[in-house]
Amino acid sequence: MIWASGWRLASAVSNAGGLGIIGSGSMYPEVLLEHVRKCKAATDKPFAVNIPMLYPAVEEHIATVIAEKVPIVFTSAGNPATWTAKLKAAGITVVHVVASAKFALKAEAAGADAVVAEGFEAGGHNGREETTTLVLVPLVRDAVKIPVIAAGGIADGRAMLAAMALGADGVQLGSRFVCSEEASSHAAFKQFVVDSREGDTLLTLKELAPVRMMRNAFFLEVQQAYARCATPDQLKELLGRARAKRGMFQGDLEQGELEIGQVAAGLKDILPAAEIVRRVMAEFAEAQRRMAALDLTTDAAQ
Ligand code: NDP
Repeated sequence: MIWASGWRLASAVSNAGGLGIIGSGSMYPEVLLEHVRKCKAATDKPFAVNIPMLYPAVEEHIATVIAEKVPIVFTSAGNPATWTAKLKAAGITVVHVVASAKFALKAEAAGADAVVAEGFEAGGHNGREETTTLVLVPLVRDAVKIPVIAAGGIADGRAMLAAMALGADGVQLGSRFVCSEEASSHAAFKQFVVDSREGDTLLTLKELAPVRMMRNAFFLEVQQAYARCATPDQLKELLGRARAKRGMFQGDLEQGELEIGQVAAGLKDILPAAEIVRRVMAEFAEAQRRMAALDLTTDAAQ
């Protein structure tokens, strides 16, 4: 959710009854401070900050969330043992994002209060094992005792119910909220996502950090580099710096890195965040009714 989820989106989601999350990976320390303060002013509901541990100035972000008494912090892309104890000592609820049961166990052992089990369908940074959400959620559910939040491939209430049937206690939606009015993503990127079709996102750059992005001219250059058997250093050089900003924030649809999940193919509109929350909950209730009406009773089940 870098370049997408600032204080506007996070506070709108929290005000609508969800838990809004500020994505701090694209924010300089003073920018995060500003977003946290604006979020506090815009909502009296709980909200969270996601801190990717790959972030170059991670210590400063940690200091900011502690000083500002942010109630919940999601940590991702790194070892949960590094910051969990410090955050918890400051009274912060810690949720760690994982892509395998092995790392879910590590997060639990490090004292995390919950884990996000994020599958292969998710946009942006992704797991190396390519485990789908359908497979990952039950594996993580069976491995840990702490609450499990499912992510990756969830954009509506049907998928939310499915994730809960697999054992999740909650769900995290990213791509659906990129296509919200409050997301800070460039309007051209939002529209590109809405116009996209099945197969338009792919996982690539596993040698650097696996990332799911949309097919565009830059993605084709990456594919050509693989065809030439490029080394990791050559891939890094091709990626360069601030590709994600160029694509998702500045709207360069050709040369930018456009991170989004597989569910992009099903997104049809850009909506206010509160309307997204309302629709997801209505779809969830409708899907629950449909499931309850199914008569699956068989002799074997009796
Ligand atoms: P790059 O190294 O390509 O570029 C850094 C970008 O982050 C620039 O656009 C820069 O803005 C901005 N930035 C914000 N704070 C800093 C800082 N303290 N030092 C340097 N740059 C900063 O990185 P990416 O854009 O690929 O990733 C940025 C961050 O987001 C990383 O921490 C990464 O781990 C995280 N990320 C997390 C994802 C996830 O799924 N969890 C997905 C993708 C990225 P400017 O150009 O204005 O200088």
